[in-house]
Amino acid sequence: MKNKVSKIGVLTSGGDAPGMNAAIRAVVRTGIYYGLDVFGIVRGYSGMIENDIFKMESKSVANIIQRGGTILKTARCKEFFEPAGRKKAYDNLKKLGIDGLVVIGGDGSFRGAQKFSTEFDIPCIGLPGTIDKDMAGTDFTIGFDTAVNTAISAIDKIRDTADAHDRLFIIEVMGRDSGYIALHSGIGTGAENILIPEHKTDIHEVIARLQEKEKRKKLVNLLVVAEGDEFGGANEVAKAIKQQMPNADIKVCILGHIQRGGAPSSLDRVIASRLGYAAVECLIKGERSNTMIGIVNNHLHYTPLDQAVKATQTIDPEWLKIVKILAS
Ligand code: ADP
Repeated sequence: MKNKVSKIGVLTSGGDAPGMNAAIRAVVRTGIYYGLDVFGIVRGYSGMIENDIFKMESKSVANIIQRGGTILKTARCKEFFEPAGRKKAYDNLKKLGIDGLVVIGGDGSFRGAQKFSTEFDIPCIGLPGTIDKDMAGTDFTIGFDTAVNTAISAIDKIRDTADAHDRLFIIEVMGRDSGYIALHSGIGTGAENILIPEHKTDIHEVIARLQEKEKRKKLVNLLVVAEGDEFGGANEVAKAIKQQMPNADIKVCILGHIQRGGAPSSLDRVIASRLGYAAVECLIKGERSNTMIGIVNNHLHYTPLDQAVKATQTIDPEWLKIVKILAS
């Protein structure tokens, strides 16, 4: 059977996530296995527009599976929002004969890929690469598990010092508009409460629980706040609590970009490898284009890009019930 594509490009776009390198490696090695030419596109859509594109060999991806970040670099590219920018990008790909594209990124990157692949005759496969896990059509995104593990390891250390001083720590984690990092890292560290954008925060209830614990002399408490929580970040939450509990010893810790870096976890390496392989299989068969590949119930799962970018995730309130019961 003749492959539907012969030259493919791979890029990473938007926010970086640990495991992107493992996905690049899988795309390159699978492409070469099937006799394709594989091109690396540098700095996401910017590299497509600026023609910063190079041919990759098997050895180009040696020794990267364990590295965080992305060897192809990533960027946010304003020009790609404009039809003229996307046309420039298309012309560059055409000149090189690239006839298939793998985009590793978040929902913004998929919005770009979706537009590009409907405007031009280049099929795009999207692989969900974001620490935020803010995408439908997949149980995991590349980088989420590592980010949660990083947050957990940091919060464990915070608990040691909180315990030594009988302190209340308010810890802010990443996730943009998504509460998944907060939810998983909060459950994994036994947080007293978790504040996420998917559920309206009742600060009076949060404070009432803390006051009740204060009465019981349980003074060590960790609150995990998602950066996108509608009440505001950790500093806002601390201010509101301090007003009602002036004697409480409160510290704020914003974990920040450490959550993006570091060696990918075993889970992220494995899903990135599976997804990278699947992306190339998809392109050479030509059965699906303009598709995001995810993993649902441990099976590869295919979602049209336009549906993947439209869908929003919800979080079952039962998760928060679990937090309350276990933290009592
Ligand atoms: P992420 O992929 O992590 O969600 P962004 O939202 O910043 O990151 O998107 C990455 C890039 O994808 C943008 O800088 C832009 O080049 C491209 N992009 C995002 N949304 C669109 C859109 N609606 N149309 C065209 N390109 C887009």
